[in-house]
Amino acid sequence: MLDPFGRRLTYLRVSVTDRCDLRCVYCMSDDQTFLPRADVLGLDEIERLCLAFVDKGVERLRITGGEPLVRKNVMRLFEGLGAKIGSTALKEVTLTTNGTQLSNYARGLFDAGVRRVNVSLDSLDSDRFRAITRRGDLSQVLAGIDAAAQAGLQVKINTVALKDLNEDELPDLMRWAHGNGFDITFIETMPMGEGEDRTAHYLPLSDVRKTLAREFSLAESLHRTGGPARYFQVAETGGRLGLITPLTHNFCESCNRVRLTCTGMLYMCLGQDDNADLRAPLRASADNALLDVAITEALQRKPRGHDFVIGRAATARPMSLTGG
Ligand code: SAM
Ligand code: SF4
Repeated sequence: MLDPFGRRLTYLRVSVTDRCDLRCVYCMSDDQTFLPRADVLGLDEIERLCLAFVDKGVERLRITGGEPLVRKNVMRLFEGLGAKIGSTALKEVTLTTNGTQLSNYARGLFDAGVRRVNVSLDSLDSDRFRAITRRGDLSQVLAGIDAAAQAGLQVKINTVALKDLNEDELPDLMRWAHGNGFDITFIETMPMGEGEDRTAHYLPLSDVRKTLAREFSLAESLHRTGGPARYFQVAETGGRLGLITPLTHNFCESCNRVRLTCTGMLYMCLGQDDNADLRAPLRASADNALLDVAITEALQRKPRGHDFVIGRAATARPMSLTGG
């Protein structure tokens, strides 16, 4: 499946809910309103959509949200998709989670065929963690991360680099992650969503890199995970650091992904509003003929790149809808 710029689309991110048990300051407002449940696709429908993409050559699925593990019966989806790994084009099913429910689900995820999990964690200080997430309990997340590692899941930590909120803690977070055998990726805040100014804590990763370089030697690594991160090998810790810099470094040329929301809207680019409704063709018939046409047609509209500019919301769509 090639887009108009010859990029092969092998990666689908799927948001299974816009709901979440946390309210991270850069992602949601405290009184966030969520979609009416009636608008959200059933898990069976999401599975059918995912498999239609797998039929078209998608090799990797990442389940996200909102918080995917707060969706009722979500393990059914992991089990259904996991059963297709190897016998179809599908090579991998992963998830991005805030970790609050991982203690309960880590073992089940592994048994379903999941091998890697990204856990978002912006601070190792419980007061700060609560402030950034507006309600989170750090010990619950750390227990979840531990359970994931115990279950055999490869853990990667995702940390949004936030001016004034966790800027001074980034070296410690990296040391902690590497000390536990986890890769860690720092992410720049992206101007997503309306309402309060989500760019107030924007911290360019070029600054973070300079600060880290005082203490650590970062060697550019050729490691790639199919995502937009660039990786560095850190001599002092022996671990790997990823940097995702959508604003300061344009990663669109190698973009291999599209995103599906929990209402069945396909977004061809995280930073643009163009989308295609897949729910209507999905529901119009029990076979996938209409759906296949809709997917093919949508992919022809994948743009060359986004145009994020700090200081204005590039898109009014919050990250919790398309899952980052
Ligand atoms: N709830 C899960 C979690 O937090 O990992 C999955 C969904 S969350 C929207 C996916 C990722 O997007 C998280 O790593 C989060 O930190 C990141 N994110 C959310 N809003 C963002 C923003 N405005 N800029 C950069 N990253 C953001
Ligand atoms: Fe929830 Fe993830 Fe958004 Fe935080 S970043 S509010 S955990 S969806």
